Amino acid sequence: MTISEPEARSAGLDGRAADPVRAQAEAVAALIRPYAERMDEQEAFAPEVLEMLTSKAVWRNVHGEHLGAAGLGRQCRWIEAIATSCTSTAVLVQSQLTVAHTLELSGTAGVEGLLEGMRQGVIWGWGLTEPEAGSDILGMTTTARREGSDFVIGGSKRFISNAGMSDYYLVFARTSAERNSRSLSAFVVPAATPGLTVTRYETKMGLRASRTGDLSLDEVRVPASALVGEPGAGFGLAINTLRWSRPLIGAVSLGVARGAFAELASRVAPDASALRRLGDEEQGRGHQLAELLLQLTAASALLYEVADRADSEGVLPAMWRASAAKAFCSDTAMRIAGAAVELAGLEAAADGSRPGRYFRDAKVLQIFEGTNQIQKNAIVRELLDADVAHLGTARV
Ligand SMILES: Cc1cc2nc3c(=O)[nH]c(=O)nc-3n(C[C@H](O)[C@H](O)[C@H](O)COP(=O)(O)OP(=O)(O)OC[C@H]3O[C@@H](n4cnc5c(N)ncnc54)[C@H](O)[C@@H]3O)c2cc1C
Repeated sequence: MTISEPEARSAGLDGRAADPVRAQAEAVAALIRPYAERMDEQEAFAPEVLEMLTSKAVWRNVHGEHLGAAGLGRQCRWIEAIATSCTSTAVLVQSQLTVAHTLELSGTAGVEGLLEGMRQGVIWGWGLTEPEAGSDILGMTTTARREGSDFVIGGSKRFISNAGMSDYYLVFARTSAERNSRSLSAFVVPAATPGLTVTRYETKMGLRASRTGDLSLDEVRVPASALVGEPGAGFGLAINTLRWSRPLIGAVSLGVARGAFAELASRVAPDASALRRLGDEEQGRGHQLAELLLQLTAASALLYEVADRADSEGVLPAMWRASAAKAFCSDTAMRIAGAAVELAGLEAAADGSRPGRYFRDAKVLQIFEGTNQIQKNAIVRELLDADVAHLGTARV
């Protein structure tokens, strides 16, 4: 008897097998899995995987048939399954859902048409971060000035996922010199717009197949209709999008954690006698495995409590819940992937090692979509709010 993935599931992730969304997502994930290590080594998506996302109706499934139809829980289940096979592909899907959510929140006319493009595989980048504006969004210096019926955007963006492979970018820019929640606006900028160039690509430790690059925006002229939402709505749109996208990164992380746990379990307990030893003379190692499984189970419970609650209540998750899911799931991924690497030893240091890739990917998951320090700031801020002030007694 070995601790197989299905057994680990039934121990901690009940109800998975009976779930048709999971079943469909896991079937696609199994097709992506053979490409993951090669894509990581080559630092690029395989065309076959990109094609699969359209031909296997992944885009249509994750976006839903109309704006707002898919639900956060459904999107998390898809992303978790894909991340079990390939973190970079899961982040590609997550990044599209992030853009879609900003567009949806904006209530801008014509958004449904843009979403239909996304269902057919049109790729977007989300352009918020700048060299001097990472955690501190309001430090942004990219500006958009009104000129007649146009806006002219100037500045630069840093660490933008899907740079160079995007058809469109959602670019955040300063439309007011003041530093407050009405200073920023968001714009749809087609990648081919004159003045928009990718100036460099990162060679990254993790998420290597996912392209990350810097954008230069030099007098980029877009019509006023490119504005997403009201002028000055950008900061609110970005923050409220994070309430959706942070659980999605939690789902990516959960997939990595689950994949790493399966790698670990298959090494620690490859057969029945090895498993028996874990409960007997190798109890220390057995307890380590049990603790990791407990954390994996807790991460899953937290993520789906946050996502499914948001769906059933028909509201965005509170920021503290979104941040808790992101931070706990990515810390879980890091912990389990770390244990898997320790166990794999030298093999994990070599190219093509799956535990090694999970470990490198998990580190990035702790950093982006707001670092886990920033998530804790968000949690503490909301703990001070009246509705969660009585954590010990209230139903939270
Ligand atoms: C692979 C990858 C892909 C990305 N994709 C995108 C993308 O598509 N679009 C996009 O807009 N951005 C993207 N980013 C950027 C990402 O969101 C930022 O890296 C992240 O928000 C952190 O910003 P920073 O790197 O500038 O770190 P900084 O803000 O400079 O932070 C540095 C350190 O200081 C800590 N710190 C900063 N402020 C505080 C504080 N107030 N309290 C406590 N600690 C603090 C941080 O936790 C961190 O440890 C991506 C990043 C990576 C690595």
